[in-house]
Amino acid sequence: MAEHRSDLPTIEAESQPFWEAAREGRLLLQRCEDCGAAQHYPRPFCASCWSERVRWEEASGKGRVYTYSVVHVNDLPPFAARVPYVVAAVDLDEGPRIMVNLVDVDPSELAVGMAVVVAFEQLTEEVTVPVFRPARGG
Ligand code: ZN
Repeated sequence: MAEHRSDLPTIEAESQPFWEAAREGRLLLQRCEDCGAAQHYPRPFCASCWSERVRWEEASGKGRVYTYSVVHVNDLPPFAARVPYVVAAVDLDEGPRIMVNLVDVDPSELAVGMAVVVAFEQLTEEVTVPVFRPARGG
């Protein structure tokens, strides 16, 4: 049996295209063809109007920090080896809010509203997760 890793996402049918794209270094969102709303996380219907006509589109990968938290203590492996790390809610330019780890960031430069861009971190052969880092130089 594979060792359980608490940092790995559960990949369900709905979100499979999201994870496949992440392995290729692309961040996907869902867009409703009826009302135009963009959403994350993936669902089989539009969270705004309940339409089932949602399609995938590639996100710009740009966003701004809505809120963040510096985690200093986490006894669960593999997080224990990573502290401190930064967890943030990022508002993507397209609208949806996504919970991610912020990387390559000095805690002293953290700020609500800071511009960030997507990057990708390979956790295993199968799983690559989107993370965000500060957008520098425009
Ligand atoms: Zn809709």
